[in-house]
Amino acid sequence: MPSGEPEHYVPVPWLARQPFNVELRTIHVDRTRLDRELMDAVIRSGVNMVHEKVARIESTGKRVEAIQTESGRRYSAKWLVVGEAASMVDPITSNGVTAALRHAAEGCALILKYRESGRLPLRARICYSARVVYMGKFFNGGIEKLVYEPPVRNRIGLRHAGTVYISPAWGMNLVYARTSPRGMFMTALFGLWLLFFRVTTWLVYRVCKLLPKSADATGC
Ligand SMILES: Cc1cc2nc3c(=O)[nH]c(=O)nc-3n(C[C@H](O)[C@H](O)[C@H](O)COP(=O)(O)OP(=O)(O)OC[C@H]3O[C@@H](n4cnc5c(N)ncnc54)[C@H](O)[C@@H]3O)c2cc1C
Repeated sequence: MPSGEPEHYVPVPWLARQPFNVELRTIHVDRTRLDRELMDAVIRSGVNMVHEKVARIESTGKRVEAIQTESGRRYSAKWLVVGEAASMVDPITSNGVTAALRHAAEGCALILKYRESGRLPLRARICYSARVVYMGKFFNGGIEKLVYEPPVRNRIGLRHAGTVYISPAWGMNLVYARTSPRGMFMTALFGLWLLFFRVTTWLVYRVCKLLPKSADATGC
């Protein structure tokens, strides 16, 4: 904390119950071992890892056709962009890893589903891209409007502004994981749900901008 004192966060017990079913135990991971075991599992499943730096990309419009490594080797494939390459979530939101894992899980599921045809249908690609973009904009827009820009934090204080941001932002990961929006209809519905929060955030921002700065606010 700013004072230098540690602060312990203990999640409220109702989060573990219906309908949230959140796992409240903290998992401590041996990251070196996890990395090694994941890599072993990937290689066992037949993936060929290339430990080289990509030096050049060949593209047609927005489509990446092939990559060339520093040693000059060329690889062409059908790519599906995930993680920060697909959508950069502000690191301060602590959502980048969750987003990258979500993209990876959805991307793998799509590849498996359509592997026989060898091509992802346009609808599947549009829905995947829309979900990636919607979530990225939701997280980045929220932190920018509620915390980075001064009106809200000057009005209610930095700490409260952080809470106002974190509650829907982290809750949204939960809703996303529970509802698993996939098809056109669910993607559109989820997009509207996120739009509602983005509009609400914008309204809070505008109202705070119109109001005089609170004397109690500890924002900077
Ligand atoms: C300071 C900081 C703090 C963060 N804190 C959090 C946090 O608390 N919680 C959270 O969830 N997220 C956090 N993030 C964000 C999180 O690290 C990223 O969102 C996440 O790592 C993205 O995963 P990725 O696989 O898309 O990309 P990366 O993890 O960046 O992986 C990309 C890989 O590509 C490699 N690469 C790059 N260029 C080339 C090339 N030309 N050729 C070959 N390989 C290449 C890189 O070496 C790297 O290994 C933080 C980020 C930063 C910078």
